[in-house]
Amino acid sequence: MRLPPGVSSADFADAIKQFQDAVGKEWVFTSDEDVDLYRDSYSPFWHEDEEPIPSAAVAPDGVEQVQAVVKIANKYKIPLWTISTGKNLGYGGSAPLLGSSVVLDLKRMDRILEVNDKNHYALVEPGVSYFDLYRYIQDNNLKVWIDPADPGWGSLIGNAVDRGGGRTPMRDHFDAHCGMEVVLPNGEVMRTGMGALPGSKTWQQYRYGFGPYVNGMFSQSNLGIVTKMGFWLFPEPEAYLTGTVSVPKRDDLGPLVAGLAYLMNSSIVLGTTSVASPLNFLRGDAELAALRAKPGGPSTQELEHYLQEKNMGYWSIELPFYGPAKVVAAQWEYAKEKFSGIEGATFKEGTLHRFPVDPKELPQFQNSVAVGIPSLSVFGVGGTRSEGHVWFSPIVPMTGEAVLEAQQVFADAYKEMGMSIGPLFFLGPASNYPRCFLVLFGFPIEHDVEKNKKNRENFKRLIKVAAEHGWGEYRTHTAFMETVMDTYSFNNHALRRFHETVKDALDPNGILSPGKCGIWPKSMRKASA
Ligand code: ADP
Repeated sequence: MRLPPGVSSADFADAIKQFQDAVGKEWVFTSDEDVDLYRDSYSPFWHEDEEPIPSAAVAPDGVEQVQAVVKIANKYKIPLWTISTGKNLGYGGSAPLLGSSVVLDLKRMDRILEVNDKNHYALVEPGVSYFDLYRYIQDNNLKVWIDPADPGWGSLIGNAVDRGGGRTPMRDHFDAHCGMEVVLPNGEVMRTGMGALPGSKTWQQYRYGFGPYVNGMFSQSNLGIVTKMGFWLFPEPEAYLTGTVSVPKRDDLGPLVAGLAYLMNSSIVLGTTSVASPLNFLRGDAELAALRAKPGGPSTQELEHYLQEKNMGYWSIELPFYGPAKVVAAQWEYAKEKFSGIEGATFKEGTLHRFPVDPKELPQFQNSVAVGIPSLSVFGVGGTRSEGHVWFSPIVPMTGEAVLEAQQVFADAYKEMGMSIGPLFFLGPASNYPRCFLVLFGFPIEHDVEKNKKNRENFKRLIKVAAEHGWGEYRTHTAFMETVMDTYSFNNHALRRFHETVKDALDPNGILSPGKCGIWPKSMRKASA
């Protein structure tokens, strides 16, 4: 059996016995067969000793059991790695950052504690997946939408604390939460916001409570275990309409994105959209391939002409509108007016859907996630030959200039690395978060040690290239957390020092998720340097 760093086999055996007493023997997993299930199936360390495999997993079924596990971990200084459902593939899955940690698996805590369709919120435990909550809402005929992450099998809490995003107006998942219950590293339970007031009637309605607002300290963090979390839900809208705006010239990107930013920041468009170009999806086209093969590549005019011939814009965005049918129609009218200043802009109205949708209509949705219906269809993206990917996910400004610059900078960086931006560069630049663009690159994982070694080096290089241009990752795979935190270095790493000070105060034994986001407990800090 693997042993957590610095823990003797006798102590570990005692701890395992005590975990079993706390949660039940069948919920402590130590066999290779069971523990293997917690490995990251998209690990960039396949077939290498460096792969961080857990030593065991413990699955409590309630907050008292979580507290008991934390107390035992403190006694024996055993690192715990918290997961809710452990499905954040591309960012680490269910595997710990530090090898031989014990995975604290909260999947069994899957109670939906409340769904309110008058004030539009839910209170859930960590094991509740998007599918679970969606089914509950359907079964009870409640008039609220959830905002699923692209793969709907993950949990609301795991995704929100990792600051994941979706597509509807509630798409910034951490921003959409209201109120938490947290088990602290010393085993104490705390409720935040109005939850700190015993008998509070507004835990899921008013976020801040009284005094410093601490909730952010428990996202992308190793300071607590979130055991309950409230979420604001979107009232089921009357209608959903999309409208696509296409513009003919490369230089139209500036006014196109400026118009989008205006519409989003004025709350006229509130959903995820992305700037698309047919040049990305026409990769296999022979004429385009011939243009690209020209010495020095095609000129902008040649590309513009080629697209014009095909009756396609150089850029397009599909705007999502949610609300009463009259309102979405007016919003689309207004958007068209806004973009009509761009010469040659064309507009295409999508189907207006009304809710609840007739199940027969469902196949019409290319992406049901945009209308609050969880799905797993995103797994089609990597194609059949994919062995997995890690996400490279920088945030760039919502301007045309920034998009063109990012495109150039990353294309050059990929070229230098001897790679091409593959078809997985599919989601960028997207408005999953307000006021900025998220650019998402799927970076390949292979079952080939040499290729993975090279890919890891390349991934680190991309992080640095992005940082040199003022773009930071919003989230990263456990393998790159240290490198990303290194780039957030203003005033000689003042932010990391702050995190370390808090970590040392709250978790002196360093038991919770060591190394998460580059934050190590004092006892392990040197080893990480
Ligand atoms: P999902 O359930 O959406 O698949 P994960 O369980 O993979 O999400 O969690 C994503 C990351 O968020 C984990 O690596 C972990 O660091 C953190 N996390 C997940 N659940 C919790 C929780 N209940 N409390 C604190 N951190 C958590």
